[in-house]
Amino acid sequence: MSHESHEACCLQCGGRDFATGIHIGLTAEIGDVGLSYKDGLLLIGTEPMRAEICTACGTIRSLYVENVNHHWRTR
Ligand SMILES: [Zn+2]
Repeated sequence: MSHESHEACCLQCGGRDFATGIHIGLTAEIGDVGLSYKDGLLLIGTEPMRAEICTACGTIRSLYVENVNHHWRTR
């Protein structure tokens, strides 16, 4: 097939089914693991990470955040 698709095969198992937008949570505590940002003077927040996985073997294909319009805290 020379048909081009934005959905590549899973590198691990060759599967083509992916689940996106998965919440990444903590097993014991309430809350999300995320990336810190600082908007304005004192507003510090956390942008939760999302994951995309192969539904066949569970390989995490990518990690991303939905909202990129933040001033990221880099230290
Ligand atoms: Zn896979």
